[in-house]
Amino acid sequence: MRIWSLGSGSRGNALVVASGDRAVLVDCGFGPRALAMRLKRLGLVPEMLEALIVTHEHQDHADGAAKAHHKWRLPVYASAGTHAALRDIPAKYRMTLAPGTSVDVGAFTVEAAAIPHDAREPLAVALTATASGARVGIAHDLGAVPAALERLFARCDALCLEANHDATMLREGPYPRALQERIRGGRGHINNDEAAALAVRLAHPGLRALSLLHLSETNNAPEVAARAVQAALAKARVHVTAHPAAGRTPEALCAFDSASIGTQLALGL
Ligand SMILES: [Zn+2]
Ligand SMILES: [Zn+2]
Repeated sequence: MRIWSLGSGSRGNALVVASGDRAVLVDCGFGPRALAMRLKRLGLVPEMLEALIVTHEHQDHADGAAKAHHKWRLPVYASAGTHAALRDIPAKYRMTLAPGTSVDVGAFTVEAAAIPHDAREPLAVALTATASGARVGIAHDLGAVPAALERLFARCDALCLEANHDATMLREGPYPRALQERIRGGRGHINNDEAAALAVRLAHPGLRALSLLHLSETNNAPEVAARAVQAALAKARVHVTAHPAAGRTPEALCAFDSASIGTQLALGL
């Protein structure tokens, strides 16, 4: 399994998750030209994409979804609520991803959990590669951490978790009070400490990669997020390195051949 970020944050989000040469796109906050250019910078091509999963309808996650569908004929997987908000995707390409169920998408089995965020029916997703059993949990915008998400993300080989803001930087920063309250009000975005606590709870011996996503450019910084999460992991004696996503530039997040020993044991393989 290999995972790349094409961009992360309020200016546009998209992740590519690949098993061998087959891949799916998770969120599409970029138009087709920008998407193709970002893929090219990573040595990837749009033709490797077999499907698009949209976590929720906000512009930074879904702005390019319909155009990407039309250009590359991608089926679009999303919750019923998200589909209701997405436009211009023909019915036969709208695939419903219901919380608590799993569906085969290209080279993966995809499971979803409902999460709190100020969108119609936002989801967190876990993708398990059919060939290798490798598993990644992806939570983009996340206002709080429900028990269903922790169950879904247990024993992942890789985690991609939002670490949106530093609580002090948000409180002392330029955002007006009402916006601050929307961000931290349980249906907005989790902060670095909440992401750190979640990572500690989800950690297990087979966890090999932890990426921090959707960092605010105003109320966070990569080194601030990494320091907060790494300190919590060290305190809990978890030996994994937290990698803050670059934000505006595409980058490789992680790569590994197969499910970890820990995951194999958990799955009874
Ligand atoms: Zn977002
Ligand atoms: Zn959002």
